[in-house]
Amino acid sequence: MSTNKIIKNITEGIENYSIRLLYQEESQVEDLRRQHIKYVRNNVSVSLDSDFYYDGCDCTDNCESSECGCKSTHGYFYNSQISGLDPNLVQSSNATFNHTIYECNSLCACSNQCQNRLVQHGISLPLEIFRTSLCGWGVRVSSSYTNNQRNNQEKDVDDQVVIKQGQFVCEYAGEIIKTDEARRRWRSYKSDYGITDNYIFCIREHIGKDRVLRTNIDPTRVGNIGRYINHSCSPNLRMFLVRVNSIVPIAALFATREIRENEELSFDYSGQIGMGIEDEKINNNEEDSVSKNGIIVGERKPCFCGSENCCGYLPFDESL
Ligand SMILES: [Zn+2]
Ligand SMILES: [Zn+2]
Ligand SMILES: [Zn+2]
Repeated sequence: MSTNKIIKNITEGIENYSIRLLYQEESQVEDLRRQHIKYVRNNVSVSLDSDFYYDGCDCTDNCESSECGCKSTHGYFYNSQISGLDPNLVQSSNATFNHTIYECNSLCACSNQCQNRLVQHGISLPLEIFRTSLCGWGVRVSSSYTNNQRNNQEKDVDDQVVIKQGQFVCEYAGEIIKTDEARRRWRSYKSDYGITDNYIFCIREHIGKDRVLRTNIDPTRVGNIGRYINHSCSPNLRMFLVRVNSIVPIAALFATREIRENEELSFDYSGQIGMGIEDEKINNNEEDSVSKNGIIVGERKPCFCGSENCCGYLPFDESL
């Protein structure tokens, strides 16, 4: 195996932790720099006026009481011991959990330490981007972090758990764009930049009976660590929607199970998504383009996730 070269931090210091990148050939980094031109921490709204402030609470107890206006209005799903969601809510078998998470926001009286603020604080783990054998770039918890932990504990721990079940990992953040812009970009990415992977994530939230709020997140050129996380048909992360100060939802990734060191992080692009929403990285409404087993027929790329129930192909949104 060729030795890794390291870029110590690709975030330009805007995340809580450095995110390092391991690579073997300079050309790999050149390709990446041509595609991903700017690292951002959160979604960037290009054309939408998205500021929208929800009523805040007036708590002075870090929102520990159930009287908290935010918790009583929108529910409370976090577990502060885990820095994440309650474990039983994130299990893939739990399909009944169907809420958007509303965190305390800038109108709330509570402090930054309030238990109802989590995703807004950003990533809580040192992640690293590395070359996978079959799937290009991938993301895992940095091995330097687990080595440090091991030294500190001074005992031999094999397969150390580095992410707890339910723990918040990172957002999937990029530019928020309108649907026709998403289509235009997808075509231009192919022709102008030779980018054949689809990073544009389309989220549809059903509001009431027949209203749908569609959010398109494009991290292709301007995005965060989320764009490097690969698809898996048996993923260890699941996406939930979180709102803080904006009508634009944050697509937040939480661990569905304990994740051990050196495990690659993954989520299912095809709609194993929390909060009763559908994403359109695969799903679209043209039924005749969907084969019986739900695989989109057309511009498909093979999936190399290696899981037992792998469906063989990467999800693809033909509405783009
Ligand atoms: Zn409160
Ligand atoms: Zn609060
Ligand atoms: Zn609040």
